[in-house]
Amino acid sequence: MLRDLLDSLRCPRAHEEAWLVAMVHRADGPYLIEADLACPSCGAEFVVAGGVAQFDTVTVLEQATSPDAMRVAALLHITDGAFPVLLAGVYAAAGARLADVVSGPQVWVNAPRDAAVPAAAYSAIEVTGRVPLGVETLAGAAIDAAHAAPDMLDSIVRAVRTGGRIMAPVDTPVPAGVKELARDAHEWVAEVTTRASGLVELRRRAPDAVG
Ligand SMILES: [Zn+2]
Repeated sequence: MLRDLLDSLRCPRAHEEAWLVAMVHRADGPYLIEADLACPSCGAEFVVAGGVAQFDTVTVLEQATSPDAMRVAALLHITDGAFPVLLAGVYAAAGARLADVVSGPQVWVNAPRDAAVPAAAYSAIEVTGRVPLGVETLAGAAIDAAHAAPDMLDSIVRAVRTGGRIMAPVDTPVPAGVKELARDAHEWVAEVTTRASGLVELRRRAPDAVG
C-alpha cells in the first residue's frame, strides 16, 4: 500500500474514528511493504505484509512484562514533533523501539541502567519527588508504578501540553486536570484538558494552537 494512504486509514473497530500509528519495517519508494499499524484508541494492531495492509486479522496489544513501544506510541498518540515524550522508569526500556516509530525527542526519568539507547534524541534525568520540567513542555508521558506518586504525577501533568496524553498504572487515581479516555487491565490513558496554574503568561507556539 502507498504510505500516503496512512492519512486516510482509520481503525476499523467499533469506536470513534482513530488514526493509525505506523512502524515501518520495510518500504520501497512510496510503498509500505512490511509495517505494523496500531490504533491509539483501542490498542488494536494490524500488519502490512507483502505490501498488503491486513485488516482481517486483529491483535490487541496488551502490556507485556516489558513495555511495548507500539502500544506506548499508540496510546499516547504521539507523532513526530519538537516536544519530547517523557518515559518514566520501566517505560524507558521501550525508548529505543519507540524511536523507530516516532522520531521526536524523549526524556527518560529514572531509566533502568540497562535501557537500550534510542536512535532518537533523548535526555536522561534522575529525580525524586517532582519532575523539574516547565508547564506544557512535553508531548505526552508514560508513567510506571514507581513514578505514580501524587507529587511526581502532578508535576508530570503540569508539564504535558494541553491535549497531550498520559498513561499510568490502572490503580493510580486519575489526577485533576486530565480526562480519562480509556483503561484496560493494566493502565489508564488520559488527556490533559485544563491549563495547569502558571500558564497565564504562556505564549502559544502558533496561532492555530490558540484555544
Ligand atoms: Zn481502534
